[in-house]
Amino acid sequence: MKKDFYKLGIIGNPLSHSISPAIQTSALLSANLKGSYEKYEVLSENISNLIQYFKEEDFVGFNVTIPHKLEILKYLDETDETAKKIGAVNTVKITDDKKLIGYNTDICGFHKSISDFSVSNAAILGCGGAALAVVFGLERQGCKNMTIYARNLNKAEIFISNIKEKTTIKLSAKSLESLTDLSETDILINATPLGTIGENQNKAAINKDTLSTAKATMIAYDLVYNPAETLFLQYAKNYGLKTINGLDMLILQGAKAFEIWTEKYPDTEQMKKSAEKELCL
Ligand code: NAP
Repeated sequence: MKKDFYKLGIIGNPLSHSISPAIQTSALLSANLKGSYEKYEVLSENISNLIQYFKEEDFVGFNVTIPHKLEILKYLDETDETAKKIGAVNTVKITDDKKLIGYNTDICGFHKSISDFSVSNAAILGCGGAALAVVFGLERQGCKNMTIYARNLNKAEIFISNIKEKTTIKLSAKSLESLTDLSETDILINATPLGTIGENQNKAAINKDTLSTAKATMIAYDLVYNPAETLFLQYAKNYGLKTINGLDMLILQGAKAFEIWTEKYPDTEQMKKSAEKELCL
C-alpha cells in the first residue's frame, strides 16, 4: 500500500562510512516519494528496543549491515527463500500489521551487475559473507565451476561444506598462494577487503604476474568500491582486461531493497551519481 511518508534506515556498527543514506535518499527522490533514511548505530543487545521503536514509529523497513546480518534472524517473523539460502539478511520490511520479513538483496545486486556476461568458470579470492552472495549470484548466471582461493584453506573448505548442498556450482578450495594460472577463468572476483581505502589500500590479494595468464575475455571484478580503482583492478587494466568495481553491486542491492519497501524500482543511475559524490570519486 502506498504511504504518505516512507520511514527507512540502516542498522549496524560502525556506520560512519556508510553511503546507504545518500543512495536511498536519492532513490526516494527519483521515485518521487517522501521519506527519510537514517543511520542507527546499535549494539546487538539493543536491537530488540530499536525494532520496537521502528514499529511504534511506523517504519516501512530497514537495511542491516555488519555485524548484525545473522543476529537479526531471531527477530524476524518470516524470511524469504534467498535469505534462507544465504543464511543472512540485509533488508527487512515491516508490514502494516507490524510483521518483520527478512530478505537478502546482495545476491540480486551481484547477479544484476554481471547479467550481460557469460560465465562458466569462476575464481574468487576470499570466503567471507560477500563471497556467499557471489556464489549464488554466479549460479543464477549459469556458472558451473568455481575455485575459492583463501589465505586459510581450512576456512575455504568449511565455506564449501556449508553450501555445497545448496548450489549446483561445483566448488573447490585452494590456498591463495596456489593461484598462478587464470587461463580457464571467465571471471575473477576479489571478495577480500584488500585494496580498500585506508590500511589495505595499496594491497592486492593476487600478484600482478598471475593476471598475465588470464585470457583476453576474463572479467576482473572487485567487490571493493572505494577507491573506484583498486590495485587489483589497476593490474587487470594493465593487461587489457574488463574491470568492474563493487559500486554497481552496492547500488543494485540497494535498489532491490528499495523496491521491497516501496514497490517502486528507483533510478539506479541517479543513485550511482549520489554515491559517487559521497565517495568523491
Ligand atoms: P568478511 O566476511 O570479513 O570476509 C573477508 C574475506 O577476506 C575472508 O575470507 C578473509 O579471510 C579474507 N581476507 C581478509 N583479509 C585478508 C588478507 N589480508 N589477505 C587475504 N585474505 C584476506 O568480509 P565480507 O563481508 O565478505 O566483505 C569482503 C569485501 O567485500 C569487503 O571489502 C567489503 O567491503 C566488500 N563488499 C562489497 C559489497 C558491495 O556491495 N560492493 C557487499 C559486501 C561486501 P579470513 O577469514 O582468513 O580473515
